[in-house]
Amino acid sequence: MVKVKEGSSKSKKPLIVMKFGGTSVGSPERMQGVADILAEHAQHADVVAVVSAMGGVTNMLIRAATQASEGSEEPWKGSRAELARRHREVADQCLSAAEQATVLPRLAEQMKHFEDLCSGFTLLREITPRGMDTMSSLGEVLSATLESGILRSRGLKSETVDATDCIVTDDNFGNASPLFEETRAKTQERLMPLLKDGVIPVVTGFRGATREGVCTTLGRGGSDFSATILGAALDADEVWIWTDVDGVLTADPRLVPEARILPEVSYREAIELSYFGAKVLHPKTILPVMEKKIPVWIKNSFNPSCPGTKIVSAARNGHGGIKAITSVKEAVLITLSGRNTVSFPQLAARVFNSLYIENVSTLMVTQSSADNVLCFAIHQADLARVKAELEKVFELEMLHDYVGVLDVMPKVAIVVTVGENMKGTPGITGRAFGSLGRKGINIIAIAQGSSELSISFAIKSSDMKEAVKAIHEEFEL
Ligand code: ASP
Ligand code: MG
Repeated sequence: MVKVKEGSSKSKKPLIVMKFGGTSVGSPERMQGVADILAEHAQHADVVAVVSAMGGVTNMLIRAATQASEGSEEPWKGSRAELARRHREVADQCLSAAEQATVLPRLAEQMKHFEDLCSGFTLLREITPRGMDTMSSLGEVLSATLESGILRSRGLKSETVDATDCIVTDDNFGNASPLFEETRAKTQERLMPLLKDGVIPVVTGFRGATREGVCTTLGRGGSDFSATILGAALDADEVWIWTDVDGVLTADPRLVPEARILPEVSYREAIELSYFGAKVLHPKTILPVMEKKIPVWIKNSFNPSCPGTKIVSAARNGHGGIKAITSVKEAVLITLSGRNTVSFPQLAARVFNSLYIENVSTLMVTQSSADNVLCFAIHQADLARVKAELEKVFELEMLHDYVGVLDVMPKVAIVVTVGENMKGTPGITGRAFGSLGRKGINIIAIAQGSSELSISFAIKSSDMKEAVKAIHEEFEL
């Protein structure tokens, strides 16, 4: 894989950051599988590993913390036993005797930390966001400690690295953003000497720390983001995201069994896809690597010989038009009318400010200026908060009937067709919608941005499967 220049004895090895998700480190066998992959690639590259918590562990930690804060000890003691059992099983099955002597005391220390946190939550009957971040990212500390112990048991050089020593973030606990300059300096200082010594660092995903050193997390599913942050900070040649699917697919295979793996997608297409149904990537993953044009691969740790999907700045695109279809099933469509009294800009400003206050993103937006009507879709789960906020903001206008009733249409699906090649290609929308028309599927609302990267439309949830299939067939994806 590495090209050694003729005559030069010391060619620089490529640097690859490899992230392994929760299912990829979900059991003793899977953790051995990860060690196989790392050992193989460490022969020709400098490798930095980033690991998620073992599958299910993050949810368990959050649940235990919540139960502890409700004042009951029984449930979190149960979680403690389960946590200890799962990690102990890995240590028993995968570590050499010498490594058990090193790693077991560290696991015990972390379990003690878990207990202290739970006792604190019980005592205070509350969880602060910063307390929750330390707690919810403990699983990454446990899995990273074990994975590097497994590598050492095989005679490889490896060290566990806590990402709080590398990734510097703001203090938006629960969904922190990295501060790139500081992160770059700290990451290089911590990881470069290890790589120079031939050590494989195994870094905890998901977590970072503020400038003051307080632990933060990057949002659920944030280990993908950890990997690209580290990749950018180290000027890595590539970032590989190891997961449990073969790559980015043309559609959800549960909806379209014929869905196919895409060999290449562009950064912009990947971002578009990650925001909706395609859960392959944390939405912020691509941002750190975009400017430096570092390629990101999606690979399957359960099927390592499959090449996967390469995400690059400009993807090779086959036949024009739609490349992939993604969808959100549980959405609602909200319509508000300013009537003749509240101007459209005022209506829009107040609605979007409400969404900002509630920290809710829209899935699609449409307007009809003549009628002074604004229509937008959000996740069903955000409805109650948004509705309450809008009713508060427009209370007086609604009382006087200035603003038309908040019309909520439930059970809506948003389907999004994505493809950079749609730009400037006439007739795509016609073909897509024609295929729906022939199936008798009614479109409730449509949106397409001027970037022509995606077309979003709302339909009844019950029509979703058939709609996705129809478009997939029409464009022979
Ligand atoms: N373990 C964290 C989560 O479940 C982060 C990750 O796996 O990416 O959200
Ligand atoms: Mg994930």
